[in-house]
Amino acid sequence: MKFKLQKESKNLSARAGEITTDHGKIETPIFMPVGTKATVKTLTNEELIQANAQIILGNTYHLYLRPGMEIMENAGGLHKFMNWNKPILTDSGGYQVYSLAKLREIVDNKITFRSHIDGSLHEFSPEKSINIQRTLGSDIIMAFDECTPYPCDYSYAKESLKRTHEWEKKSKEYFDNTNPHYSHSQALFGIIQGSTFDDLRYESVKYLTDLEFDGYAIGGLAVGEPKKIMYDLTNKVCEKLPKDSPRYLMGVGKPEDIIEAIANGVDMMDCVLPTRNARNGSLYSWQGRINIKNAKYKNDFNPIDSNCDCYTCKNHSRAYLNHLYRNQEITGLRLNTIHNIHFFLELTAKAREAILNDTFSDFYNNFFNNYHVEQDNYLNNLKNKENYKNKKKNN
Ligand SMILES: [Zn+2]
Repeated sequence: MKFKLQKESKNLSARAGEITTDHGKIETPIFMPVGTKATVKTLTNEELIQANAQIILGNTYHLYLRPGMEIMENAGGLHKFMNWNKPILTDSGGYQVYSLAKLREIVDNKITFRSHIDGSLHEFSPEKSINIQRTLGSDIIMAFDECTPYPCDYSYAKESLKRTHEWEKKSKEYFDNTNPHYSHSQALFGIIQGSTFDDLRYESVKYLTDLEFDGYAIGGLAVGEPKKIMYDLTNKVCEKLPKDSPRYLMGVGKPEDIIEAIANGVDMMDCVLPTRNARNGSLYSWQGRINIKNAKYKNDFNPIDSNCDCYTCKNHSRAYLNHLYRNQEITGLRLNTIHNIHFFLELTAKAREAILNDTFSDFYNNFFNNYHVEQDNYLNNLKNKENYKNKKKNN
């Protein structure tokens, strides 16, 4: 994997770059649709490509449990299994073990847990996680870490960070001493943890950059903390990271969070929001989020967004989508997802275009002038916007 920094924004920390993998190039900043169980829910690969998806995610925990690694190895890896020929990033499995598995227990350098599907007993370790991701054959592998919850007290965050660093060091050593299972190469990203504590975050940046990973992810954010904390920490961490490596903010997020992350210097983001919310009838546009199940759309024969050129907006009205949703028609879930994925990818593509054209500050201000940020985040965003107005890039 190679990363080329192409342009840095003048007034904000936004940057445009290009990641080259054996499965093709990724133009950053980029949103990565989540294909948890070897599919981006409801979409075909062709529909993903039409939405300009350049890289998708797969989940180690889910794919390890089902279909399992024997089938995955027989298939020749995840790319061949799902017939997706562009880049794939897989997570380490750690996050899902914490959020889904039952009766998990940390003993030495291993987590034992029971499957949420059938209660069977399993064990994850840094080495096991790398082995699984070698079998999956993802272009970008994530090191094994512990994602701390929010809130998290300082002593636990410190203890957890020490363990995460040991796990990541083992991940790196094991990665360096093993080979890909298939004919393409794989890269390894480290994950910066440290909860909401500046000193722990800085310690994590130092520890991981000394180990020299191919890229750096910021984990343990977007787990329920106030937005201001997420934006500030992202900014502080990005300022300490090397410029010549890609940066990935995990699990982010809402459109306004994506734009803030890009303004803070993040290159890659992923979230289940556009797909999960599409299936709940929440649809996004440059003006904000609408709920298609609302009665006011029953007789609305406009598209979701008249400026959107996705298949759904070019062919169908809000009234039709409202009708499909109310009847829980599968086609409705698909049409909603096609639109949302198209919008999230357009969001990062337009941000990239603005960075390359030296107009990102205008893009940023226009976005927040037009986009209705929902109440829970509104004040934090306003505050943040003020901060950015006079902010000069801190080199
Ligand atoms: Zn659309």
